[in-house]
Order: sequence, then C-alpha cells, then structure tokens
Amino acid sequence: MRATCLKFFVITQLLIFCINCAPRKHRIREGLADSRQSILHNTIRRLSRRIQHPGISSNVAKLDAYLESFGYLRQTHFGPAHHSELARTHAIRKYQKFNHLPVTGKLDDETRWKMHQPRCGLPDVTSSSRSIRGMRSLAPGTPFFWEKKNLSWRTINFSSDLTPEQQTNTFTQAFKYWSDVTELDFEETSSGKADIEILFGKYNHGDGSNNAFDGNGGTLAHAFLPENGGVHFDDDELWTENSREGTNLKIIATHELGHALGLQHSDKKDSVMTPYYQGYKNNFELSIDDVQDIQAIYGEKIHEEESTEETQGRHKPDICSTSFDTILFSGDNKTYVFNDKWVWRLSNKGVKRSYPKLTRKLFNRPPNSPRSAVFSSKTRRTYFFKDNRVWRYSGNTMESGFPRRLTGDMTKPDAALTDRNGNILLIKNNRVYKLNERTFHVDSNSVLLTEQWQGLPAIKDVRAAMRYNGRYLYFFTEETYTTYDEQDERVIPVYPNTVKHLLGCI
Ligand SMILES: [Zn+2]
Ligand SMILES: [Zn+2]
Repeated sequence: MRATCLKFFVITQLLIFCINCAPRKHRIREGLADSRQSILHNTIRRLSRRIQHPGISSNVAKLDAYLESFGYLRQTHFGPAHHSELARTHAIRKYQKFNHLPVTGKLDDETRWKMHQPRCGLPDVTSSSRSIRGMRSLAPGTPFFWEKKNLSWRTINFSSDLTPEQQTNTFTQAFKYWSDVTELDFEETSSGKADIEILFGKYNHGDGSNNAFDGNGGTLAHAFLPENGGVHFDDDELWTENSREGTNLKIIATHELGHALGLQHSDKKDSVMTPYYQGYKNNFELSIDDVQDIQAIYGEKIHEEESTEETQGRHKPDICSTSFDTILFSGDNKTYVFNDKWVWRLSNKGVKRSYPKLTRKLFNRPPNSPRSAVFSSKTRRTYFFKDNRVWRYSGNTMESGFPRRLTGDMTKPDAALTDRNGNILLIKNNRVYKLNERTFHVDSNSVLLTEQWQGLPAIKDVRAAMRYNGRYLYFFTEETYTTYDEQDERVIPVYPNTVKHLLGCI
C-alpha cells in the first residue's frame, strides 16, 4: 500500500500537465461522446487500480481519487475513501465553484458529467505542501518563470499527421501568442540543446513510466514548468489544423507552452489555460486574462519607438494633468507617487524636478499601474498589489517566486499600509483586512476604517494609504487626503487638503 501511495504521490507531484484529449485517432465527431466516456473510464480504472484496496467502496474511492488527483482533496497515506464526508463535500463544492457548476456539495448529474469530460492532468488547486521535482516547496499561487527573456526552442521530432513545415508553422504561431504581449522572445534552433524542447512520443517516451502516454485518447500532451522546457505531445493522437476532426495542435501547443512558461490552470471559461480541452476554434485568440497572467510574470511588451521616446524625455506625463494609481512611503523614508508606468518623488514642495522616471528604472519588472503599494517596516520589504497579485521587493530587486497570487475572500486591495507593529493592512471598500506576509492569505475578518482608527471619519473610495514616519497615517482619495495622528487618535486639520496641492500643482 505504501508503495502504491508513493507512486501516486510521485505522479501528481511531478506537476506534469496532461490533457486527456477528446478525439481518438481516425474517429469522427459522432463517435466522440463514446470515446470520451471510455477514456475517462480507462483513466479512472487506472487511477483506482493504483489506490484500490479491500474494504472500501469503489465509487467513493474513484471520486476521491479524482478529487485528489486534481488537488481538491489532500492525499493521505491511507488512500482515497478515508476522507471524512465533510472534507469530501467541501472538495466537491470547490470543484463545482472552479468549474462554474451549481455549488451543491453533492455529486449530482451535472458534476458527474463534468468529471467525465476530458481534461488536463494538472491539479487545479496546488496545496502548500506540493513540491516540484523536490526542488522547493510551493505556496498557493507561487509562479515559476524563466530568468531570461530570450528563449530558444526546437522540435526534436515531428508527428506524421501534419507535414514538418505545418508543425513548425503551428509552433511558431503558438509561441507568437505569448511573445506578442510580453518581452519574451523565441528563436527556433535546429540543433543542440534548446530551452524549450518539443517532442512527440508514444507510451513511455523517455520521462519515466509514470509519465507514459496511453495510446490514442486519454492523455493528450503534457509540459513541465520552468525552467525545464519539456513539451510533449502524444503521437497516438490525430493532430490537425483547420479542422474539427482530431485535436487542434495550435490550441494545445499554446496551452502547453503556457505551462512551459509558468502558467497554471485558470478557472476563467475563455482562457486557453482552462483545464478542459475546449475543442477547435476557428479564430483562436488568447483571452484578456491569459494576457494579464503572462504579463504578470514577464511584464508587458515595450514597443521600440516608445522606449526611445522615453529615453529622449518626450512623452513624459505631467502629474498635474493626470491622476495617480498609488502612493508609497518607502524604506528610504521617501514618498513616491505612481501612475501608469511612471513614478514621481515627493518633496516638501511638490514633486522633485528629476521626475517622473520609469518605474522599472527603480524596481525590476514592476507592474504597470500598481493598485496599491506598501513598505513593511517589520520585514523591510516593499510590496505592490495589482488585481489579485502581489510583487515583493528586497531593495529594488523583485524576489524569486513573485509576483504571486493573494488568497482569501478579498484579493484586490484598493490601498495598503502597515499597523503600528509593521503588519500589513489592506483596505477595500472602507474596510480593513490583515495580510499574512508569509502565506499571502488575506484574513476574511475585517473591520471598518472607523473601527480600526478611532476618530477617523468614514472615507469613501480610499485610493492609497501610507504610514508616515511611524505615527501619522495618510488616506488618499483621488482628490483629497486625510492626515491622522494615531498616537493622539485624531485627524490633523490640513488646509487645503487636496492631492493637487500636495503634488505642487496649485
Ligand atoms: Zn494544462
Ligand atoms: Zn513526457
């Protein structure tokens, strides 16, 4: 039992991304439903063979094995069917939520149907105990990425379904989806070791028996996270282009390259990174979420004319005729104002003359238009927040593993500051949340701003907040700011209290 558990553990820990493909080779659409059913049954049979032992209900074991293999249930040393009913219900609810099903917590017909659909073998939920190839442990949302931006790629061998020219063309297009929106650059090479190596293989194809493909149907392809670069396609599938028959190579290649570049599965329906194979699409494009996700890792594409203009000083925006995204009181006791990709430093009389500068000149790979920013006096780290992600800097250098996702019910803070002990507080809709700086989980318990700080009036639409020299708190809206003395628990009257005045515009 222990050996089988370990084997199962190893299989899922490898974080191999596998898509259980829909069509079997040489089958047409009419036969699809049947083939999908049998693929799933084969898969479940395979899974349950690994974990079956006498005395447990095979249905519950299969359900548990399914939920475990995709990360919804934690694997135990006792095998499936040893989970409590409560844990199982919770896992089904999570599964239903991720897959946009009615959240009943029960294995109803719709849920059962969804579980019978072909899908990728990668877990949708990564637990904090997961490690990848034993290299490091992972907290939820931790990204993987390539340190360099120029990556070489090579096709080791080709499928016989399409001509080599067609396949090279398809892979070039798949890479281009990702390089069109980031600073990544891909170059094909025909010999030697490449960063990303694409191959077609059948059954055991050189990366261990646990990763063996399974003949036509079932597992369709898999890819390894950075910086491995392995992208493998099952050569027993029928790979096609511009056809509803077989499996579309371009879409699957784009999905697998997404993994090879560090993306994990998305619960957004129109994302290319959705775990379920969506079938052929005539005008396939990345979704907005896909673009944002890859840009969160590698930054946005900088157009050449733009960067020349920037270095020549033209097109520098005037803070007085624009708005601001957020304000940071940094570890060097300076106050910075951010807007779009620019940063200004505040002085006693408005902004410093040598500013604005490009934010990326001060911080490496920062987000454009950060939603909020804070310096933690406790850990001496600077944080940027945007959407549901956090970037962490030690000095001006982004730390490895960032940006990563925030977890919890509130993950898109409007503003961030620290409490008097240096703990990070996030503000959203006039409420204050605590951020765990180790796990990046936002505590769902929150209090009103007016409860957190006695004597502070309710402030609508807080856009930025900061703690200034320990004792004073600043709360900014788009137009005005409020200064609060935490020690005396009172607002300090300031006139005029407009942001424009603070920036020296008036
Ligand atoms: Zn996948
Ligand atoms: Zn492989």
